[in-house]
Amino acid sequence: KPGSKTPEEVVKKYLQKVKSPPEEDCTICMEPLGGPSGYKGPGVGPVSKAESVGRLAQCGHQYHFQCLVAMYNNGNKDGSLQCPTCKTIYGVKTGNQPAGKMEYHVIPHSLPGHPDCKSIRIIYNIPPGIQGPEHPNPGKPFTARGFPRHCYLPDSEKGRKVLRLLLVAWDRRLIFSVGTSSTTGESDTVIWNEVHHKTEFGSNLTGHGFPDPGHLDNVLEELRAQGITEEDALV
Ligand code: NAD
Ligand code: ZN
Ligand code: ZN
Repeated sequence: KPGSKTPEEVVKKYLQKVKSPPEEDCTICMEPLGGPSGYKGPGVGPVSKAESVGRLAQCGHQYHFQCLVAMYNNGNKDGSLQCPTCKTIYGVKTGNQPAGKMEYHVIPHSLPGHPDCKSIRIIYNIPPGIQGPEHPNPGKPFTARGFPRHCYLPDSEKGRKVLRLLLVAWDRRLIFSVGTSSTTGESDTVIWNEVHHKTEFGSNLTGHGFPDPGHLDNVLEELRAQGITEEDALV
């Protein structure tokens, strides 16, 4: 837990100094980088002129320091930061998936489009509960519909790699979140996060089934957008 670091210290860790800010607007507050941050909210302390603008070390995008701190404070404060322009992730991104269980096993049947291998079935189970500080409405109950949810992957080399990365995503609480379901419109409920799963086995009535030749590559791309890469599959 990065609990000992203040938001300012976390943000500073990912920044390089900027001597003279460019004549551009900060895309967080839309005010010129040469002037003060447009963000004046609670928890944003004063900052010296020399530190008022920072450059994210990897992608190079520049923002008001106080705007980045405000953005960090709006998130789940897990010690990671994501560039709002190019989505580069600094540190290890985690989500707000509620407590539950992820299990998987091989089943001796082939998926449409993957005739040469067996299949992996993943079973996610999340019970309803009470929202924590990391959720949209802390203290309020959340529902959990349609659990256990069953999902399928081909038991191929690539399918097993996707499984290993999904296990990492689960540990980082990135498979589900709590919010409003776009399918049912229900709020304060457990919903899929931004990694697509196939929940139909032998048919494709919902569009979440097989065959779908691009599926595994799409999932790898969606996992990458969450900061989970093939290197995470090696450990
Ligand atoms: P959502 O509707 O907010 O959608 C979030 C993402 O999940 C989207 O990308 C969407 O494409 C994808 N998604 C939607 N339906 C999916 C499905 N059936 N299989 C795989 N991916 C799907 O998220 P949500 O509310 O978590 O998803 C809705 C699905 O959840 C339902 O189709 C159903 O499978 C399940 N559900 C079941 C019940 C029930 O009582 N049995 C109730 C609500 C939801
Ligand atoms: Zn700004
Ligand atoms: Zn960037």
